[in-house]
Formats: sequence, C-alpha cells, structure tokens
Amino acid sequence: MAIYDLRCQDGHRFEVIQSFTAPLPDCPYCGAATGKIPSRFALAGRAATPPPPEMMPQTWRGTYGADREYVAGLRRTAEARRDLEERHPELAGDRRPVLAHEGRYEQTPLRAGDPSPSPGSAPP
Ligand SMILES: [Zn+2]
Repeated sequence: MAIYDLRCQDGHRFEVIQSFTAPLPDCPYCGAATGKIPSRFALAGRAATPPPPEMMPQTWRGTYGADREYVAGLRRTAEARRDLEERHPELAGDRRPVLAHEGRYEQTPLRAGDPSPSPGSAPP
C-alpha cells in the first residue's frame, strides 16, 4: 500500500491509499481520469533543499518499520540538511526546546533561554 497524490485534468487534487498495482481512481469531484503527482516528501527528498527535521518521519511506522533502504535514505537526507544548515544557519530556525506554557506557566518564556516577559512574576 502507498499514499498517492492524484490530480485530474481540471486540477482537483486528492490523496488515495491503495496498492501499487491498483488502477488509479477517477476524480471524486468531476469524474475525470487522474494521474499521480510526486508526494510532498518525495519532492522535498529530490529537491536541492533537503526537508527540515519537522518534515522527516516522526514515528516508527513513518519509517516503514525501519526499512533499511528507507532509513538509509533518511539518513542521507538528514545529513544533507545538516550540511545545508551549517552553511545557512538562518534555515535552522529556533530549535530550542519549547517550555511548558500553560496554567501557572502562562507568563513564562516560551523557549528555554528567552528573557522572562515580566521578571518577578515567574512561578517559583
Ligand atoms: Zn476533477
């Protein structure tokens, strides 16, 4: 099974999950024939800009059960992204951990290391 991004001639886009060999469904909006378009992840993997960590699989299932080839590809992508961020630190964004920010922590800084917005009112 795989997820496909499909598009019809009229430009309707939708996703289906089906086997590799199943025929592509017609467009659910207008009934026209559809074709595959590269998935966002595949696009990002091939593009000159490797995807940021947030776009990498976050779960065991996301790696197809740690499929060796897939994980090796992910590692290459992650290394390419790390190299890119070393050359262009502005792409890395703010990677500091987000702190608890609810309830009595509402007034505390969002990120570790941020100055407290109202010193003295921070919880003990
Ligand atoms: Zn359509």
